[in-house]
Amino acid sequence: MRADGAGMDTPPDELRAATLPVALISHAACRLHQMAPGHPEQPARVSVIAEELRARGLHDFLAHYEAPRATDEQLARVHPAGYIELIRSRAPAAGLEQLDPDTAMCPDTLEAALRAAGSNVLAVDLVMSGRARRAFCNVRPPGHHAERARAMGFCFFNNVAVGAAHALERHGLERVAILDFDVHLGNGTEDVFRDDGRVLLCSLYQYPLYPDMDPPSVPGHIVNCPLPAGSGSEALRAVVSEQWLPALEAFAPQMIFVSAGFDAHAADPLAGLRLATEDYGWVTDAACAVADRHAGGRVVSTLEGGYDLSALAASAAAHVERLMAGATD
Ligand SMILES: [Zn+2]
Repeated sequence: MRADGAGMDTPPDELRAATLPVALISHAACRLHQMAPGHPEQPARVSVIAEELRARGLHDFLAHYEAPRATDEQLARVHPAGYIELIRSRAPAAGLEQLDPDTAMCPDTLEAALRAAGSNVLAVDLVMSGRARRAFCNVRPPGHHAERARAMGFCFFNNVAVGAAHALERHGLERVAILDFDVHLGNGTEDVFRDDGRVLLCSLYQYPLYPDMDPPSVPGHIVNCPLPAGSGSEALRAVVSEQWLPALEAFAPQMIFVSAGFDAHAADPLAGLRLATEDYGWVTDAACAVADRHAGGRVVSTLEGGYDLSALAASAAAHVERLMAGATD
């Protein structure tokens, strides 16, 4: 318990009843950010997930929140002040401002990026205060390629890293885990937390593939699991069961973050792993089981990639459905 009172209203884990809602956090600005016409990281990604949650009857059982803007103080736990200022200064009044070959700002991008990062801060506050059991942030731009001082790979601020840093610094947690099943290595998240032993980072990714990095694992801290193109459900389940879960059990995280990219799906046009929609339910169950054992059920998940709209909608809805499942399911 921190002296300044952060976490004072956090209920004991045993009182975190399965009846607490799952929060769904988004913002209209996330549907306005647009790079080039036809770019796969497109506004419809957020819309199709929302529509699928409605179609499955899940919408009404979620607690809906608008994402606030992340403050400079919250961003500065992850990004240098000069980088935050650079992103602000590059925001165009019209047209597109290209930050790297894959990553451009339009006039709505800064607002969307601030809301996407802020969604994670709100998610952590909701889950820590007992107002929500878990949370899913249906936001874009994504974040896991954003390094401390480098926008890349469709990412500007590292949304999940901002959330994890908020949990550590504001709520005084000592151990958080980040699970990243996006098909691309989350090089930005690793850049942020490489020297921070309070974070266990478990990643699986296709390699070779963008960003063409395959950094070594660090026992008890970074669990990197590269997979060759063509790997499918069995490979995913082996990696999670044999590498992620033992590390998670030993680490006993107090909160679990998920970088929820759905571009390892077999239908995705940008990559070559062969996951099925039901794999996302399976890996979500595995994450929730660890959270229920060690973290009072606390899971904060955030959209990263996923570029086939129908596979994205079905996979993300399967993920949210399992986040909503009861602790004893
Ligand atoms: Zn990706």
